[in-house]
Amino acid sequence: ALDVAHDLGRAILQNRAHEREQELMAELQRLDRYRAELVATVSHELKNPLGVIMGHVEMIESLPDLPAAARTSITAMTRGADRLSTVVDDLLMLSRMGNPDTPLERVRVDLAALVEEAADDESPAASAAGLTIRVAAYDAEVAGDPEELRRLVANLVSNAVKYSVAGGTVTAAAERRGDEVVLTVTDQGLGISEEDQRRLFTEFFRSTNPDALRRPGTGLGLAIVARIVARHEGRIDLDSALGRGTKVTVTLPA
Ligand code: ADP
Repeated sequence: ALDVAHDLGRAILQNRAHEREQELMAELQRLDRYRAELVATVSHELKNPLGVIMGHVEMIESLPDLPAAARTSITAMTRGADRLSTVVDDLLMLSRMGNPDTPLERVRVDLAALVEEAADDESPAASAAGLTIRVAAYDAEVAGDPEELRRLVANLVSNAVKYSVAGGTVTAAAERRGDEVVLTVTDQGLGISEEDQRRLFTEFFRSTNPDALRRPGTGLGLAIVARIVARHEGRIDLDSALGRGTKVTVTLPA
C-alpha cells in the first residue's frame, strides 16, 4: 500500500509540473504576441509623422537664399530622418513577416541575378573601403517572394562589405546543388566571436566588438534575413572566426 501511495504521489506531482509548464508556455506566447503587436503599432504610428517631417525638410531645403548654417542643419536633419525611416521600414517588414497571415508570394526568382545586383549596389562602398567583390553566380532559380529574396541577398552582401577590412575580398556565390540552391557570402573581415554568433539573429543585436560597433547599423538586418529564410523553408549556417572573416551559407529548396 505504501508503494502505491508513493507512486500516486509522484504521478500527481508530475501532473502539476506539466500543468505549470503549459501555463508558462501559454503566457510566453501571449507576451510574444503582445510584443509583436506593440512593435507593429509603434512603427505604423511613427511612419506618418516622419513623412510629414521629411516633406517639410525638403520644402525648406528648396527655399531660395537659405543661410549656410540652415543648410548644414537641413543636411543633418535629412540624414537623421533617413536613418529613422530605415529603422521604421525594417521594423514594419519584420512585423509583417512575423504575422502568420501574411502570404508568401511564390514566383520564379533567379538568385544569381540578385547576387549580381547586390554586388553592383555595393561596389561604390567596396571601392571606397579598398575591397574587391567577386561574384560567382550561376543559374540558381528558387520559388519565392522577389522582394524578400532581394532583401536577403542585399543584407548579406552589405554586411560582408561593411564588416570587412581594407584589402579584403568579398565573395558572393549562388548555385544549384541537386534540389537545393546554395547562396554563400564570404568575407575576410572582422569575424564574429562565438558568443556573439549565438545572438546574431535576434532583433537589435549588435556585436560587442568595438571595431564592428564603429560601423553604422541597427541590428535588424540579420533578424530580417533569418525570418526570410524561415519563410522560404530554408536554413542558414554561419562559419566565422574573430579576426579572420565570416562565411554565411543559405540553403533554399530549388
Ligand atoms: P547591423 O549590421 O545593422 O548592425 P545585422 O543584424 O545585419 O545588423 O548584424 C548584426 C551584427 O552582426 C552586426 O552589428 C555585426 O556586429 C555582426 N555582423 C553581421 N554580419 C557580419 C559580418 N559579415 N562580419 C562581421 N560581423 C558581422
